[in-house]
Amino acid sequence: MHATPAYAAADAASPLAPTTIERRPPGPAEVLIDILYCGVCHSDLHQVRDEWGGAIFPMVPGHEIVGRVAEVGGAVTKFAVGDAVGVGCFVDSCRHCAQCEAGEEQFCEQGMTGTYNAMARDGSGPTYGGYSTRITVDQDYVLRIPEGLPLDAAAPLLCAGITTYSPLRHFGVEAGDEVAVVGLGGLGHMAVKLAAAMGARVTVLSTSESKRDDALALGAHAFAATRDKATFKALAKSFDFIVDSVSAPHDYNAYLSLLKTDGTMILLGIPETPAPVAAAALIMQRRRLTGSLIGGIRETQEMLDFCAGHGIAADIELIDIADINTAYARMLKGDVHYRFVIDIASLSR
Ligand code: NAP
Ligand code: ZN
Ligand code: ZN
Repeated sequence: MHATPAYAAADAASPLAPTTIERRPPGPAEVLIDILYCGVCHSDLHQVRDEWGGAIFPMVPGHEIVGRVAEVGGAVTKFAVGDAVGVGCFVDSCRHCAQCEAGEEQFCEQGMTGTYNAMARDGSGPTYGGYSTRITVDQDYVLRIPEGLPLDAAAPLLCAGITTYSPLRHFGVEAGDEVAVVGLGGLGHMAVKLAAAMGARVTVLSTSESKRDDALALGAHAFAATRDKATFKALAKSFDFIVDSVSAPHDYNAYLSLLKTDGTMILLGIPETPAPVAAAALIMQRRRLTGSLIGGIRETQEMLDFCAGHGIAADIELIDIADINTAYARMLKGDVHYRFVIDIASLSR
């Protein structure tokens, strides 16, 4: 076993602190990855604070992992030592159910194995994520980082990138569509870049007036402040799609009123408490309310290749691991520009 420096939360009330975990040497079909960068997703914060229930402690978060292959098992065919690779939100699934066969492992009928805060399928105990210096993963759950993508700014693509790319594709966003992105954080800023690259006309709906210039620089065509109630009158029935990436409870009905007839609102944010939806908000214009969960391995690779082809990566603020608790506090205030990424070298210093 490899003794591996990491940062963990001891329980839902404690800040993250240094610890040491064990990583196994790679099995025949596995690769051992030296982690270089790990993005900080709001889901890390939800889970560390046990806001979704069922949290497993101690917890080492992190599911936006980029690094280089350090060792390969004897049966590994897809990767070689030195390759730039990524790991996203899951590291295993049953591999046999209809969803796994369809390449939608995130919907595995037996449940995907999360990169952290999950139990490994081989009974070896809890999984630990990317706030650590290395990880061992089956080659079928590892992504190739294409040439040309900066490795630090590519890390957030492994969750924020695929979580926004997948629904834009699945629900058929096309050139010329009117797309609103609610919440300009990690997911939101990727939704803006990706929807704009697909040719949509993008409007950012934000609680932070201070993000107006950034929204336009990221590729949005318009910005509207949602603390101003007049926005909801002015933009009524304006959008074909709304991508909602808000992490805290908010009024879905107000946003539904902004959809055109037959428009679709896609929930990505997972607030800790449910919110009521008025039937009339859907019925009156035959609107759809749906959701989407990350994306499968095949589509994640497709997204990475799309990003490389379009010169798209995240806008990041690179931090040392020692600053992680401050980063969480800033994320809670919406003060994210637009993804914190941990320089994992800081774990070894
Ligand atoms: P984030 O970087 O913290 O961004 C969330 C944004 O939501 C904030 O920047 C803020 O944007 C807005 N916001 C926050 N509180 C708000 C409030 N009370 N009312 C209105 N807007 C508010 O978070 P993230 O990493 O993008 O994640 C967003 C959500 O998606 C989280 O709940 C996360 O768990 C979830 N998630 C889901 C999936 C999936 O597969 N579906 C994958 C990853 C993450 P403005 O300042 O622009 O208002
Ligand atoms: Zn995430
Ligand atoms: Zn399965």
